Amino acid sequence: MRSRAGSIGFLCLLAAISAAQEDGIGDPTFPTLGNRGYLASHYGLKINYNPSTNLLKGDVTMEAVAKTELSTFSLDFSGFTISAVKLNGAAVPYERTPSKLRIKPTTAIAKDAKFSLETVYSGNPQVAQSAALPTGMTSGWITYAGGAVAVCEPDLAHTWFPCNDHPRNKATFDIDVTTPSPYIGIANGIATTVSSGKSHFVLDKPSMTCMAVVAFGKYGTFKQVGPNNLPITNYLPPGTETQYIQPLQITPKFMQYLSDRIGSYPFSSYGTIILPKEVEKANTLMAGSAIETTSIPVFGPEGSSSPEVLCHELTHQWIGDCVSITNWGDDIWWVEGFAQYSEWLLTELTDGKEAYIKKVKSAYDQFSAPGHWLKPGHLATQDVFGQQSYIGGALTFHALRRTLGDAKFFQTVKEFIAKNRYGNASVKDWIEVASKVSGQDMTSFFDEWLNSSTAPKLPG
Ligand SMILES: [Zn+2]
Repeated sequence: MRSRAGSIGFLCLLAAISAAQEDGIGDPTFPTLGNRGYLASHYGLKINYNPSTNLLKGDVTMEAVAKTELSTFSLDFSGFTISAVKLNGAAVPYERTPSKLRIKPTTAIAKDAKFSLETVYSGNPQVAQSAALPTGMTSGWITYAGGAVAVCEPDLAHTWFPCNDHPRNKATFDIDVTTPSPYIGIANGIATTVSSGKSHFVLDKPSMTCMAVVAFGKYGTFKQVGPNNLPITNYLPPGTETQYIQPLQITPKFMQYLSDRIGSYPFSSYGTIILPKEVEKANTLMAGSAIETTSIPVFGPEGSSSPEVLCHELTHQWIGDCVSITNWGDDIWWVEGFAQYSEWLLTELTDGKEAYIKKVKSAYDQFSAPGHWLKPGHLATQDVFGQQSYIGGALTFHALRRTLGDAKFFQTVKEFIAKNRYGNASVKDWIEVASKVSGQDMTSFFDEWLNSSTAPKLPG
């Protein structure tokens, strides 16, 4: 994620977490989120949405494997009226709480058994408040005059479809989006059909639930070709082509730059969704933010044409989407930190080494001042998208590059991605890879940068 100010900021209040009777997946940042009893492998989403009436009709089938015997299990889901829930094709008893859909099979599901769960529902989707974002900065299903978009990082995917809503459970998706003409629907992955009416998208690599996206509205397309003939489709509000086509030229260039250094682009397609000006009136967050939804990030109308923001979200496809966090509070520094660092790499690429050093020093001077440094390694829920994730994380990568040298630094990033491709990782994976590549134990380097109460000295 990237906001106008570079991060969401500090003005957060932790929303009260409801009593934790529900079985969470085990992330202390969001104790009640997810379920550890099963792993979803695929979501088939059929989303019918009419921007004129704000009516959503959903039919979602989750395919999963039981990790233990399941006499009951839950999905994260809030809002809407459910008309049917079917386990392996047959109606199944269920209960609802404000944020959980609890399934009560008449016969327990055996450990290691595959099962499918279909939920049919309808209603008016609404924005929601994440405890990780400042109070009043709502996200989730955002409606505006003439359209809607679902942007759900970190914990709001379940406000529009039932799911195991934590990055530890990544899954593939196929998404049908149906909407009346003249609107179109857009979603993650390869578009097998796109029309006003019904379109189908396939994401054949696993994604976090919070990085699933659908958008509805009036859009034109601008197509590009990336390295290895990768198809790139940009969805632009009609009449904005002259504003965006020039800035979007950076995408294939920076994709090549990253591919040369940290490995080939990890998904089967890429693209952008650039939201229209109408969003500004409806939602503070997406007026000026961008989010790295898998294979097709979403950009608010302000800042969308900034090369830094375009490259930030592109970089997240490797770090964040392809390799994802294990715990939000412990791992977000390397996700946002590397995306922020990629903005400094872009500066180095376009304006030279001196301009790069100037940016690093400016960030360091600002954040190393007494009282400004927060340990990036273990962030509280309200600090997950604070400046320390971005700047503290980016400075850690700069320091790592200075310590290892260019070749070993990029080799470390490349091997970290290759080793954890399409899965989840944590700090121990960074330490392990950096130590292997450098031939020295890097534990104390990461401990100093991630856990010191004051800013470590900048090497070099
Ligand atoms: Zn980001």
